[in-house]
Amino acid sequence: MADADDSVLFNVYRRADVEVVRGEGVRIWDDGGKRYLDFMGGVAVLALGHCHPALVEALSSQARTLWHASNLLRTPGARKVARRLVDATFADAVFFNSSGSEAVDLAIKLVRRYFNTRGDGPRWRVITMERGYHGRTLATIAAGGSAKLTDGFAPLVDGFDRVPFGDLAAVEAAIGPETGAILLEPILGDGGIVAAPPEYLRGLRQLADRHGLLLILDEVQTGLGRTGRLFAHEDAGIAPDILAMGKGIGAGYPLAGVLVTRAVADCLAPGSHGGTLAGAPLGMAVADAVLDIVLDDGFLSSVSAKGDALAARLKDMVRQHPAVFAEARGVGLMRGLKCRVDPWLMAGRLRDAGLLVAPAMDDVIRLVPPLVVSDAEIEEAAAILDRVAASMAS
Ligand code: PMP
Repeated sequence: MADADDSVLFNVYRRADVEVVRGEGVRIWDDGGKRYLDFMGGVAVLALGHCHPALVEALSSQARTLWHASNLLRTPGARKVARRLVDATFADAVFFNSSGSEAVDLAIKLVRRYFNTRGDGPRWRVITMERGYHGRTLATIAAGGSAKLTDGFAPLVDGFDRVPFGDLAAVEAAIGPETGAILLEPILGDGGIVAAPPEYLRGLRQLADRHGLLLILDEVQTGLGRTGRLFAHEDAGIAPDILAMGKGIGAGYPLAGVLVTRAVADCLAPGSHGGTLAGAPLGMAVADAVLDIVLDDGFLSSVSAKGDALAARLKDMVRQHPAVFAEARGVGLMRGLKCRVDPWLMAGRLRDAGLLVAPAMDDVIRLVPPLVVSDAEIEEAAAILDRVAASMAS
């Protein structure tokens, strides 16, 4: 049995009393040898599951070749991965960092810098969404949309105007002379799996254009194939000016980044931003291997197909267990079940039964399995959900 004394760590998580020690594909094992089906996926991080052979090979091969180099030197990996992302998206340039929070933090910095360097600042205020989640840095907690992020951390970074998610008129009403940007997740993730309708995203794009604002999409959770598109906004047929990515691009390796248009990239100059580990070789090797798979023919359509299969099973759950589940929602392999019972209790019962899911807000469990999940694993997860829900209804 592992040492259960967690007092050496900050006490900021509702950790389950389970110590996991090994993973493979969509499976993870605890220190007692118990096996779980991992639909938590590191919370939407494990795009390719645990210990994918191609990622293990890419990382170990890079580790033997060039471990790290300063950004005062050029390295081929960063250029190659940036080029692949630029070729596959709206973006003209990429900056890499190590966490989603850092990526969104940079997006917020870019708003100020963009307008200040053009001489039409100060336009530094950012419209953000209730129930939004953008990370844990000082700026991103202020950008987020729930009080638990900011409790006790005043004084907060100023400049965020919050509106209800999905309400276009509220965004328009919030635009003032100092507004520089609109920032949102195309699908609220930690906010409970709520997808922005495509017409809402198109409306935001139009508002941004009309008022000269930057549209920033936080695709840290929705990106890298999770919704069946490389990035979720593609479904709406629009492009942002700035996009924050994270989670799936490193697939478990600490890596994130910001994709921007040329106009935004050009507001930076040597010395105006940086990061010791930005675009470092190990992460770039992993990202390159992730893109090999995610951009391969048929991969994204397979995510959509599996997402549809999971959605159908979750709808069955709501029909069969109306006292336990209120609603199934989401896109691709980013799914949520709104619960009529405490989602933490539900997640605990599912874990005992061998299925890991991630609670979100006060009433949702998230199912965000690796994108390589099989149909059989989806059926297995559904069977566990069915069994546990039946036991909770009675
Ligand atoms: N933005 C979104 C949409 C996220 O889901 C998260 C992580 N849950 C973050 C930002 C923060 O990313 P990280 O935890 O890697 O800093």
